[in-house]
Amino acid sequence: MAASRIVIENCAIATVDANDTEYASGYVVVADNLIESVGAGSAPAGLENVVRRVDGTGHLLTPGLVNTHHHFYQWITRGLATDHNLFKWLVALYPTWARIDESMARAAAQGSLAMMARGGVTTAMDHHYVYPRGSGDLSGAIIGAASETGVRFTLARGSMDRGESDGGLPPDFAVESLEDALAATEATVDRYHDDSFDAMTQIAVAPCSPFSVSTELMRQGAELARRKGVRLHTHGSETVEEEQFCKELFGMGPTDYFESTGWLGSDVWMAHCVHMNDSDIAAFARTGTGVAHCPSSNARLGAGIARVTDMLRAGVPVGLGVDGTASNESGELHTELRNALLVNRLSAHREAALTARQALRLGTHGGAQVLGRAGQIGSIEAGKLADLVLWKLDTLAHSSIADPVVALILGAAAPVTLSLVGGRTVVEDNHLTTVDEDAVARSTRTEARRLARITAAG
Ligand SMILES: [Zn+2]
Repeated sequence: MAASRIVIENCAIATVDANDTEYASGYVVVADNLIESVGAGSAPAGLENVVRRVDGTGHLLTPGLVNTHHHFYQWITRGLATDHNLFKWLVALYPTWARIDESMARAAAQGSLAMMARGGVTTAMDHHYVYPRGSGDLSGAIIGAASETGVRFTLARGSMDRGESDGGLPPDFAVESLEDALAATEATVDRYHDDSFDAMTQIAVAPCSPFSVSTELMRQGAELARRKGVRLHTHGSETVEEEQFCKELFGMGPTDYFESTGWLGSDVWMAHCVHMNDSDIAAFARTGTGVAHCPSSNARLGAGIARVTDMLRAGVPVGLGVDGTASNESGELHTELRNALLVNRLSAHREAALTARQALRLGTHGGAQVLGRAGQIGSIEAGKLADLVLWKLDTLAHSSIADPVVALILGAAAPVTLSLVGGRTVVEDNHLTTVDEDAVARSTRTEARRLARITAAG
């Protein structure tokens, strides 16, 4: 018998299940950390151990948002190199990033996580690939911050081993050796990866990108992930320059390079995938390789627009990503739902290129799919984890829009009245309940200034 139940009622509900079932007015019963039931009308009578009833009048309930690509450490290097393309932006920022330490990584993770959680993210990820020698336990600091914030979390343990002297983009002092990167990644999986149904922490193997990682690290990273039964993540096909780099160095485009190194498969998801031709999309669909679509970051760096409608039509799993906040200063995922819809319509020149419901699916179920957790999160269905967000839609910003899903996606960023992760409250009345937002703001400012000082001193 359930130890405790929470009932949320009188709200519109978008379940994002396989049939896109919606209720104009319905209820959800949460029993401990699971969704026990969902339906139209009032909650069943006679429920025992109800510890809380939430009146959701004027609200829309959706699955919690799932972020599939981010770099938390960039929270303390926002607003720099603001008019550069990807390669110039990276070269400008690598010397700063190579000086991060454990305390900076912790504060930056707290800032990134707080910003996302207060905007309805219930599952976060961090692709962290900068591990300067002597910088401390960065992975432990990041995982600790996620645990404090109370969101479900995937750490994609990244790495770079192709420095400038090996034809790569990052300076030599910012990279690890092949052996160190593999050993540290394996140790992180062994220590932190949890594959249980309600896992709060999972680890993925995540060499950074073709232009900062050796072919051997790509190959051995894929072997390591498969030996350990964890997922694989990297950046792919982000810019025209990356495509040229791959053709010059490897004699093939990025997708063919990924295939040749074991990096296409249903256990892989890749950030961006902007420059994909029809046969690249077909290869992703055939192998079940997932995509983290990051529309704001792609716009900020002038990278282009991913062909999301074509990917979805081909059957490619697609989720949404904030990307690092050095290329998307807002760091919010709920606004990416709107941006995904808008940029894809511009790209496809079609008025229905991505619908509001498809955008909501990208940010919820699609994200769960690419993180390998669609059986547990990403839709409101009995038996799934109670990761739920109640969006307030009855104020000036939204109240004159009749369709709540359209209001959420096309309207202004909606306030979050309640966000639950596994039935535990993370946001209440638009405020985080797990961490002190003002304290996080202060510590991120302090660490950003300290990093700027250290970088300026050389
Ligand atoms: Zn990225």
